[in-house]
Amino acid sequence: MSEWGLFLIPKYNVVTTSKKVNLTMNITSFTDNKPLIYSLRLEEMKQWLEENGEKAFRAAQIFDWLYVKRVTAFEEMSNLSKALRDKLNEEFRINALTEITHQESADGTIKFLFQLIDGHAIETVIMRHNYGNSVCVTTQVGCRIGCTFCASTLGGLKRNLDAGEIVAQVLQAQRALDADEGRVSHVVVMGIGEPFENFEPLLSFLNIINDNRGLNIGQRHITVSTSGIVPKIYEFAERGGQVNLAISLHAPNTELRTKLMPINRGFPLEKLMEACHHYIAKTGRRISFEYGLFGGQNDQPHHAEELAELIGDMLCHVNLIPVNYVPERDYVRTAKNDIFTFKRILDDRGINVTIRREHGSDIAAACGQLRAQHAKETAG
Ligand code: SF4
Repeated sequence: MSEWGLFLIPKYNVVTTSKKVNLTMNITSFTDNKPLIYSLRLEEMKQWLEENGEKAFRAAQIFDWLYVKRVTAFEEMSNLSKALRDKLNEEFRINALTEITHQESADGTIKFLFQLIDGHAIETVIMRHNYGNSVCVTTQVGCRIGCTFCASTLGGLKRNLDAGEIVAQVLQAQRALDADEGRVSHVVVMGIGEPFENFEPLLSFLNIINDNRGLNIGQRHITVSTSGIVPKIYEFAERGGQVNLAISLHAPNTELRTKLMPINRGFPLEKLMEACHHYIAKTGRRISFEYGLFGGQNDQPHHAEELAELIGDMLCHVNLIPVNYVPERDYVRTAKNDIFTFKRILDDRGINVTIRREHGSDIAAACGQLRAQHAKETAG
């Protein structure tokens, strides 16, 4: 669910020049390419080793080389036998992403545009906070959800990412931070795509980055954001664990939500709120509601009252996101006073609410914008 920064739709359409691939592609889909080593959970790596006559404990050594020492070639894994290194090289790919460009903001935000092996481009962002560095990852090439405020959906969905392609984004961000001895402390799954539409690779990704033999990112430091794929919220609740869940709400009633987010037709607000109540009861964990403020659309005091009514005494947090500019829609920025009024109404009702700080406002900050610019340039 793409919404780490400001929403903005550029004035041009997203054009992709790369070949079409199957939407349900997984790591074995490319006949001419090997699966990515980063797609394997530690247990899967152990299994592969045993199937290849090697000791399972080598899996932890390989994780150490990949995620702690962060080597870029199997040949560098010097405590493995030559035969095993050759075997790894034959079976797996270790290079997932090629950097096309990056932009760095005055506030330290870094936005990367990476190329995948099939030529598609994706975005990854590092954001600096007083509590650490967070990385916002992409889970799909494009998106089919169709939120009216989002640039990433304009070209539709091209394909899902493999788990390893998502893991590699965190790894690349960590490599960028290595220069200053920085660490990726938090991960937000809020880049391009709807993560719950790429569910199994998402779960592998969460497992791999959480593994304490690798990147060791605490579950409580990871947030997955969904546009509201109701059945998957139930599945996510069943899975247990302590990863944070964020819901892109953006409207206090179903009519307005359908206008902003067509997905509300398939999964109406009432069903979404039922799923959220279930999630909280099942996991005991707080949900975050993301609420973009679109000038004149959903940002009036009566909307805040309605939102407070909808949420009631739920165990949750509301994150207000002031939107700057959406040229193709009637969306304009909410006046500062109105933002504070909206917040105060929620505060007065005892709702835990914050206003999101802007990141990277001096670069192509909105999700999908850098990718769209690149597509336009490469299209000629
Ligand atoms: S269209 Fe897709 S990528 Fe964009 S905000 Fe909606 S779910 Fe996220």
